[in-house]
Amino acid sequence: MPESTPLRLVDSHGRVATDLRISLTDRCNLRCTYCMPAEGLPWLPKDEVLSDEELVRLAGIGVEHLGILTMRLTGGEPLLRPGLEGLVEKLARLRTPAGHKPGLALTTNGIGLARRVDALADAGLDRINISLDTLDQQTFQTLTRRDRLADVLEGIDAAVASGLSPVKINSVLMRGVNDHEAPDLVAWAGKVGVQLRFIEQMPLDAQHGWRRSDMVTADEIHALLAERFELVEDPADRAARGAAPAELFRVGSTPQRVGIIAAVTKPFCGACDRVRLTSDGQLRTCLFAREESDLRGPLRDGMADRDIAERWVIAVQGKLPGHGINDPSFLQPDRPMSAIGG
Ligand code: SAM
Ligand code: SF4
Repeated sequence: MPESTPLRLVDSHGRVATDLRISLTDRCNLRCTYCMPAEGLPWLPKDEVLSDEELVRLAGIGVEHLGILTMRLTGGEPLLRPGLEGLVEKLARLRTPAGHKPGLALTTNGIGLARRVDALADAGLDRINISLDTLDQQTFQTLTRRDRLADVLEGIDAAVASGLSPVKINSVLMRGVNDHEAPDLVAWAGKVGVQLRFIEQMPLDAQHGWRRSDMVTADEIHALLAERFELVEDPADRAARGAAPAELFRVGSTPQRVGIIAAVTKPFCGACDRVRLTSDGQLRTCLFAREESDLRGPLRDGMADRDIAERWVIAVQGKLPGHGINDPSFLQPDRPMSAIGG
């Protein structure tokens, strides 16, 4: 392609990727049962993980050459990445060709966030999602295999106080474990001033223990919430949804919104604008992709930015139309969620 041809991440189904999910590490300090086995996983060797410099260079190629407008830092647990504040500062200095700062978001389990959130916001973080599945200490321990509920709640309070807005909370419901807490979580979110989103459990756990019959579906979540709340569809929310995975509902006549991410029963692949970079520099066009494109090798071999960008374009062209979870031939990806970046 001639150097002067502007590049965009368009796939063969006409979707344009503008949101880059970057996994900063595959390591984690929790062991959520729907994500990781109790003993953890064989972590990526340090020399395979992209350095800050490499990561900022790849992100810069995305923002400056390929139309990336937003970035979300995730993992594993991104707060475990040494020097995260410095990395956020460097990513926040990137500019699109039009001179705009790309939106910068973080998804975290919230442990240790209380003492870091202000520095992250000062470094240029715009938005934050924190994961919390239960308000009960014993259930938290059962679900995450760690006794850290108080740390997470402290992190959420600090995020709200920091002014990052809206603070979004991700909850996965597990049948017979925390599904009865769904209405309590909504009431709590209203009180604390955060936007709660329930995510259907997806087949991305390292143990391959996901069973469709165990998954709490979006319909069931609606039924659980209807016991205490009226969820109202607001046409303005629908019009503003775009590529957002969550379908939002107003809680009664209040301004509170609750989101439902029906990734399995109501896939939103047709509107997907995401592309993913793993912490070891592999590009993935979908959480469920079974193929990856290596960007770390060419980067370390000295390939020029423009050539890396063209590789990236070719990878995105091959993005499949959907995740295929509901096809009989579906095969779970080899990498678990924690190593892809959720
Ligand atoms: N450690 C951070 C956290 O938990 O927020 C970031 C990474 S985690 C993989 C990102 C999100 O994926 C979390 O909200 C988590 O609840 C969700 N998640 C993990 N495994 C999942 C699964 N099997 N199905 C649905 N969501 C899952
Ligand atoms: Fe860790 Fe997040 Fe996976 Fe839980 S969901 S084990 S916090 S990476």
